[in-house]
Amino acid sequence: MSQLTIEHKETSEEKIANCAPYTSLFRDALKEAHKLNASDIHIEPTADGLQIRIRVNGDLYTHKTLCNDHRQSFIQEVKRLSNLSIAISNRPQDSRLSLPSWKLALRVNSTPTLYGEKVVLRLLDMTTDFDLATVNLSDDVVNDLKEASKEKNGVIIVSGPTGSGKTRTLFSLLNSLDKERKNIVSLEDPIEYTFKGINQIEIKEPLTFADGLRAILRQDPDVILVGEIRDYETADLCFKAAATGHLVISTLHANSATKVIERLKNMGVEQYMITSNLKFSAAQRLVKKLCDNCSKRVDKEDINNVKDGFQLDGLRTQNLQGCKYCKNGISGRIPVMEYLTKSELNNAELLIPKKTLAQECINKVNNGIVDYKEVLTYE
Ligand SMILES: [Zn+2]
Repeated sequence: MSQLTIEHKETSEEKIANCAPYTSLFRDALKEAHKLNASDIHIEPTADGLQIRIRVNGDLYTHKTLCNDHRQSFIQEVKRLSNLSIAISNRPQDSRLSLPSWKLALRVNSTPTLYGEKVVLRLLDMTTDFDLATVNLSDDVVNDLKEASKEKNGVIIVSGPTGSGKTRTLFSLLNSLDKERKNIVSLEDPIEYTFKGINQIEIKEPLTFADGLRAILRQDPDVILVGEIRDYETADLCFKAAATGHLVISTLHANSATKVIERLKNMGVEQYMITSNLKFSAAQRLVKKLCDNCSKRVDKEDINNVKDGFQLDGLRTQNLQGCKYCKNGISGRIPVMEYLTKSELNNAELLIPKKTLAQECINKVNNGIVDYKEVLTYE
């Protein structure tokens, strides 16, 4: 009689539960990052060893350093735990890690550097909600964004650097649409979160955004989210799709709501296509939110760079020591957005956002939500 054996494949959670020293070190870094609501963990070889840094609220903090003796072995262990092949070390690798009981998923990349392989883990908090009501955008922004999404056809673009929260804003917008009556499709590079009622397509070599977009257009779409417009081909297809009765939502890299238009023109999109199809053009950033519990009042004498529009009474500043509710006086980040709606975009000569990023930020500063120093970085 043959014996039935069931092969058990170790899950990521089981792997990291091990009490071996390197495993514990990795697990401690994960725990710390998770506790601090960090976005990334960097495991980086240096000239004299290795450092583990954690990105919290946009800034990196050193979590731990190791000496040279441990560098290679620790990196090998991190790769094993992160589902990367330990046989490959001379080229970049990507993997994913899922920790359901931590409500966490991780996207991992390893890349060879001068002193060995650097591994970066991006933390995806599975409890993040994609809901316009909770993303903390101002009410007028949410209303105007929703209004633009009611258009049957057109292009909505939210620009911003990586980590500006634009993806969360756009998926929250998608979630607010009638998913039962509309065919909603997204092209993503890569897929990070999964959404009910949205047909998600991952852009992976050799598939490009333009290929994906061409294919989708043959699948009777109503709303299409294109992860990023990077080239003329994609931009052209987005605007043609809009002109033929689809709502296209996308992002691109530009510094302001008006520069979105400049960027599109530089890519080769004709002005008339932009004027007739672009329904919402925005720029978004995330700004650090002061801890409610420990932020400090600002005295007039403390400020040497008073910005126009500051209301001295309301200003508060970061308590660098922090308290039990925050990290160095900061508790998370909130989005600010400047944007142009259909009515401003119709007049290509006079493109002035209702509020600029700096003005939006000053509002938050005057209400004591954001440190006054944060605004000084805006023009
Ligand atoms: Zn605090």
